[in-house]
Amino acid sequence: MTEARLTLDLDALAANYATLKAEARDAELAPAVKADGYGLGAGLVARRLWDEGARAFYVARLSEGVALRKALGDREAKIHVLDGATPGSGPTLVQAGLIPVLNSLPQVEAWNSQAGKGVLEAAIHVDTGMNRLGLRHEEAAVLTASMDRLKHLDVSLVISHLACAGEPEHPLNARQLTRFTDAAALFPGARRSLANSAGVFLGGDYHFDQCRPGVALYGGGPRDVTDARIKAVATLEAPILQVRVVPRGESIGYGAAFTASETTRVAVLACGYADGVLRSSSPAGHVWFDGARRRLLGRVSMDLIAIDVTDCDAARPGALVELIGPNLPVDEAAAAAGTTAYELLVRLAGRARRVVLGEA
Ligand SMILES: *Cc1c(COP(=O)(O)O)cnc(C)c1O
Repeated sequence: MTEARLTLDLDALAANYATLKAEARDAELAPAVKADGYGLGAGLVARRLWDEGARAFYVARLSEGVALRKALGDREAKIHVLDGATPGSGPTLVQAGLIPVLNSLPQVEAWNSQAGKGVLEAAIHVDTGMNRLGLRHEEAAVLTASMDRLKHLDVSLVISHLACAGEPEHPLNARQLTRFTDAAALFPGARRSLANSAGVFLGGDYHFDQCRPGVALYGGGPRDVTDARIKAVATLEAPILQVRVVPRGESIGYGAAFTASETTRVAVLACGYADGVLRSSSPAGHVWFDGARRRLLGRVSMDLIAIDVTDCDAARPGALVELIGPNLPVDEAAAAAGTTAYELLVRLAGRARRVVLGEA
């Protein structure tokens, strides 16, 4: 191997689905596959999750919904578009058979008119404390008091989104739960969905009819830290291009950001920020090589990264180094770079050559 390689383990994805399903018990799992399946490939992950039993999915953008419908072929999945019925999106939503998650009274109106004399399926987003998208409780109450506005809509689902589910003790969780229960009661015929990955682990009160996990399916811990129940799905590896000895007092890489305080054996990897390793991974970041963590030395550049292999005989050109994977969990790599697994995963959509393990 001569370049960085991103391995996607679909059996690990399936195992994470099974773990979340066991936790969610009777609730349906409707995976979030937005941002191209958190960078891993929306069609690829959705097809495998379909085989594992998933029948509903969430994307953010209209264009993601259209692409996912195509990728799923004749599988009759429910595809929910979180942006909702944005201006001008109606005909495309209908044509691709997508379900908008209606976020505001104007969106409800637009989708109701789009139905013409017929009926269109809709999900409704009620805001319970995040204050990004969704109807406020008063708006939902206005809506259900004048049923004319919903005359041509089959509201099959009411959703809301948790702001602090990764912090079980945060008081906003219980507040959002109460507000959601109250708002959903306005739509008695609709199924209910509140929990993301972290919400699944908040207990049965948060599960309702459907949970919407994303990051934990793809190997991120639901609480932004490594979780032994969740398996690594993405592994980023790169070969060593060159091994060199840097004398004491000399620096490595751009900006001379690292100076060797001792004679240091350095391996230079065929991997850089163009392959998904964040530039902010140095100086705190590590890689995994020959059974141990090795520190990054100097700046991550576009194509190259230097690591410390002092006292490591296995370092030679061609040897493979793990940058993210089972030995270097995505949450730890993300923390070293000052971000979360979410951002790290979506940034993996770079140059690295992709290899898929397990049945696609
Ligand atoms: C992204 C998203 C999810 C999935 O969240 P994770 O934290 O990745 O599990 C669920 N619901 C909504 C509305 C989202 O935007």
